[in-house]
Amino acid sequence: MTAYPHLLAPLDLGHVTLPNRVVMGSMHTGLEDHARDFPKLAAFFAERARGGASLIITGGFSPNIAGTLLPLASKLTTAREGKQHRVLTRAVHAEGGRIALQLLHAGRYSYTPWCVAPSAIKSPISKFRPRALTSRGIERTIEAFVRSARLARQAGYDGVEVMGSEGYLINQFLAPRTNKRTDAWGGTPEKRRRFAVEIVRRIREAVGEDFLVIYRISAVDLVPDGQTWDEVAALAREVEAAGASVLNLGIGWHEARVPTIVTSVPRAAFASYAARLKSETSLPVIATNRINLPEVAEGILGAGDADLVSLARPFLADPEWVRKAAESRTDEINTCIACNQACLDHTFKRQRATCLLNPRAVHETELVLGPTRRARRVAVVGAGPAGLACATALAERGHTVELFEARDDIGGQFAIAQRIPGKEEFSESIRYFRRRLQVTGVTLHLGRVATADELVAGGFDEVVVATGVRPRIPSIPGVDHSSVMTYAELVRGEREPGPRVAVIGAGGIGVDVSEFLTAQPSATLDLGLWRAEWGVGDPAVSRGGLATAVVETPKHDVVLLQRKASGIGKGLGKTTGWVHRAALKAKGVEQLIGVSYDRIDDDGLHVSFGDGEGAAAPRVIPVDTVVLCAGQESVRTLADELGDSGIPVHVIGGADVAAELDAKRAIRQGIELAARL
Ligand code: FAD
Ligand code: NAP
Ligand code: SF4
Repeated sequence: MTAYPHLLAPLDLGHVTLPNRVVMGSMHTGLEDHARDFPKLAAFFAERARGGASLIITGGFSPNIAGTLLPLASKLTTAREGKQHRVLTRAVHAEGGRIALQLLHAGRYSYTPWCVAPSAIKSPISKFRPRALTSRGIERTIEAFVRSARLARQAGYDGVEVMGSEGYLINQFLAPRTNKRTDAWGGTPEKRRRFAVEIVRRIREAVGEDFLVIYRISAVDLVPDGQTWDEVAALAREVEAAGASVLNLGIGWHEARVPTIVTSVPRAAFASYAARLKSETSLPVIATNRINLPEVAEGILGAGDADLVSLARPFLADPEWVRKAAESRTDEINTCIACNQACLDHTFKRQRATCLLNPRAVHETELVLGPTRRARRVAVVGAGPAGLACATALAERGHTVELFEARDDIGGQFAIAQRIPGKEEFSESIRYFRRRLQVTGVTLHLGRVATADELVAGGFDEVVVATGVRPRIPSIPGVDHSSVMTYAELVRGEREPGPRVAVIGAGGIGVDVSEFLTAQPSATLDLGLWRAEWGVGDPAVSRGGLATAVVETPKHDVVLLQRKASGIGKGLGKTTGWVHRAALKAKGVEQLIGVSYDRIDDDGLHVSFGDGEGAAAPRVIPVDTVVLCAGQESVRTLADELGDSGIPVHVIGGADVAAELDAKRAIRQGIELAARL
């Protein structure tokens, strides 16, 4: 008996049977660009195949030089390159898995001066204006797709995925936004579709019947002048006739101003498009986006909305996602919280992707947690992300671990973060660690402020200090006024804010607190409300599926302030910062930069803006509440007190360095220490 009968059911695709319905979607890890990195990539794929992914889709490989994402980035154009892929296909097959190569021509998203597109229209997210392809150039590009598919087959892949969504070249041909041609490749919906359909048709002719040709279809473009639903449906039927084996959904272009995968997007927000596509074709359809738990996937599959689900980031967070679901160990899944901090944000910074929650991801051969040869008794103090990660990894390696936490529950600052609307998903990490403590056998002492004397008396061989951070109290005159509270007091619900609030400090926490004060608490859990807020409509009604956004009046008037003169939210992640900035703007949060805090009194917060020429006049912001989000300070007295004890002491996370701390660093430090001890 299983709770996931649909998820775990095999799927017969003719020449191949998938053992379950979970596909690992394409992700660019940063290891695709150089063959010297392929052994690491192979280890990454192999671990996911072993963990039960029924089909793995690689990161994108361009069929020619014009289509690469960056200069010298991943491509599959020659037999020599094809041979280098064998290490990947062999590694996956050795684990009993299947693997398809994604063919991605970036078109105008190619960040190169030689980029091409159907028409010479620059993308808002690239500085390069593309050259319009000639008719001959189009033919050659189609031939390049076919050549790459043939090479993929020779390299041992089980199939290819033709990337037709997310605003890349094929998608650019499909939408009037980017295709202004009047020749055989544009001007009417049929002609705009011709490029996509020809690619699929000619690939199928070249590779034969016993090879998967997955077409990634843009179900909703979420940009002005995108496709209509009729056009999407017609494309689905035409690529089916052209020989596609499966349709995988793509949602929104990269330049879309609607978030599609960040944590504030409700789970399975776009699954209904899979259901709509299923009624248009007889091909198996893969649902995607914000599917992170087996019950979410089972809900989609059980309702008949899709035949398969594609999970990408959840396989970074937990390579054993499928196996745990199959073995009724769902509560052991390390759930992807859709933060993008270590995966997509790394990719955009040209760093190797990994996972905030699982720093071993894409580092499988380098960060190894094997059994220890010298088991020791270790005290870990502080059950925030750093302490939790360290304690459980130490115990997994065979050490005897006791974890001390001063509060009555685990989580540290993460327990505060999970209360922010749009970050509810963070509670999954606390659930995961709670279970992981049990599975690895860590002894947990809650409500215990560990002291140096106690730890010395306890006879521990090693002590890990993970006591984290406390909110910084800035030295502003009147900071002890009754209207002032810390972000921790506010978000934990220990203090009630008045209707008018000033937020001091506009880092990640100041922005989160502003959203806490202005968001509709249920907007990330209620799909209708979320769609209304972000203006997600229906492509059957308006091209691209955009509608006018409708935002409810927030409960609090908020002013968000910082001393720096730079724009607010600049330090936030590349792929999430714009979502936060757009949300603050939509909620009418007033943003003041370059301020000096003069004092706080019964009239409110007094600020000035320097005395330079053109500086604004000092003003009083008449607020009922001032929330301090002015950064944090390390809590490390315990480490200092243990200095002379003779016990080896290791300090990690916020206790080590408070500046630029995030959970990514806290968890990584915890795991790296555990790997060394
Ligand atoms: P902490 O989380 O501070 O944990 C330290 C723990 O030690 C606490 O539980 C404390 O009670 C305990 N402790 C202290 N002294 C003792 C003692 N003597 N004995 C026993 N226990 C003790 N980070 C991100 O990466 N992404 C985000 O999106 C994000 N959002 C956030 C939103 C908010 C609102 C907040 C407040 C934080 C957010 N963070 C985010 C930051 C992240 O939560 C912290 O970086 C992380 O929690 C730091 O981990 P830590 O384990 O070092 O310290
Ligand atoms: P932060 O990003 O360092 O921001 C602190 C803010 O306080 C800054 O805006 C700073 O701006 C201000 N400040 C600093 N010292 C001050 C002082 N003495 N008086 C008045 N203002 C002062 O830290 P945070 O917001 O506390 O966040 C902590 C960590 O959690 C961050 O490093 C972040 O990575 C992580 N986090 C991440 C996210 C995310 O979405 N990725 C969300 C929340 C938190 P000025 O000096 O210009 O005034
Ligand atoms: Fe998911 Fe965040 Fe890990 Fe990326 S870094 S895989 S979004 S949990």
